[in-house]
Amino acid sequence: MEEIKITIVGAGALGLAIGYELSKYYPDIFILEKNPAFGQEASSRNSEVIHAGIYYPQDSLKAKTCLEGKHLIYEFCRNFNIAHKKLGKLIVATKQDEIEDLEGLLQNARKNGIDDLTLLDKKEIQRIEPQITALAAIHSPSTGIFDTHSFMKALSSGLVSCGGQIAYNTELIAAKTTGGKIDITVRDNKEGEFGFSTQTLINCAGLNSERIAKLIGLNRQDYKIKYCKGDYFRVSAAKSRRVNRLVYPIPKTTGAGLGIHATPDLTGSLRLGPDDQYIKEIDYNIDNSKSVAFASSVRPFLPFIEPEDLNPDTSGIRPKLAGPNEGFRDFLIKDETESGFPGLINLIGIESPGLTSSLSIARQVRNLVDKHLM
Ligand SMILES: Cc1cc2nc3c(=O)[nH]c(=O)nc-3n(C[C@H](O)[C@H](O)[C@H](O)COP(=O)(O)OP(=O)(O)OC[C@H]3O[C@@H](n4cnc5c(N)ncnc54)[C@H](O)[C@@H]3O)c2cc1C
Repeated sequence: MEEIKITIVGAGALGLAIGYELSKYYPDIFILEKNPAFGQEASSRNSEVIHAGIYYPQDSLKAKTCLEGKHLIYEFCRNFNIAHKKLGKLIVATKQDEIEDLEGLLQNARKNGIDDLTLLDKKEIQRIEPQITALAAIHSPSTGIFDTHSFMKALSSGLVSCGGQIAYNTELIAAKTTGGKIDITVRDNKEGEFGFSTQTLINCAGLNSERIAKLIGLNRQDYKIKYCKGDYFRVSAAKSRRVNRLVYPIPKTTGAGLGIHATPDLTGSLRLGPDDQYIKEIDYNIDNSKSVAFASSVRPFLPFIEPEDLNPDTSGIRPKLAGPNEGFRDFLIKDETESGFPGLINLIGIESPGLTSSLSIARQVRNLVDKHLM
């Protein structure tokens, strides 16, 4: 049976970032992608925000990889001419009792090592964002947006130019560990089913990552993925340009996301979202009537938004480890040798800030691969 050194399942931002990083050191890399092109799932259905790492608990993987990842993404964008804008972000308090929450967020962010945040009062907010209503806000100057499609294209070209390969329309359908290696079966829409063996299998399958772990025999309750959908609405051109920065409410402690926020894109057009709704089946449709709820949720800080200004845009699904009201769960990035699956590296629950963290996560995975293969 043919043997490959490193196989990656999934050509989303994570699989590509890991493939790109590893291809600098290992020539024999193979990415399997069931779709006809890269990045057709979470990696193209998101806010495209380069996060600063404000919300996550100290020492969590989310905090550490987001902080390192932010710098790496900006550097990558500069080196590869990828469109990006360091717009800055406001997290706003619209009621007196939310000011304490802002201070709590600020302290958390500082514990995480973020040293460029400032607390703005009403006057200072009015000066930089006259259309926004808020009593106080955290200003994060280094939060930004980037062109995630061009980012993934650059990763994919870099990987291929180092000898790596991406097999599209190729789905991993079975895997088992045998004698220190992993035997894999894939289904390809031209050649049908075929098999090969690999020394390392990196599971970056997003919404399918729990399923891939199960295929190989690792069935754990704490790896269970829940789908949490987020819809976006686009603001009419007439009202889009009234905001220059990203504007977020204070996240609810019970919420599964950061709260419906306003994100200008690289063309200046404004989107609202994502909301958060746990679902059972993958479904990207958007209910138009939600425009009413979206408008009323942002009106405390964007008072000019009416439901008629909003048109359904895109939606994305978060692969969450935490269920409704279950609190914080970190990214799961794990070499499964000790679980009895040598060569298997799982990445499960890579929700936001997964894009921002992608290049940092790729470095962590390279360390795990080095330990396994050297
Ligand atoms: C609504 C929303 C908003 C977000 N906003 C942000 C943001 O602003 N900033 C940020 O940093 N992060 C954000 N994120 C998170 C970020 O988008 C994800 O963390 C990141 O895109 C995950 O990349 P991935 O490669 O792990 O997953 P994906 O992009 O989902 O890729 C997984 C790939 O695996 C493939 N696959 C699955 N099963 C198989 C199989 N059996 N065989 C072959 N291929 C398979 C799939 O086809 C897919 O292409 C957001 C996410 C969502 C959903």
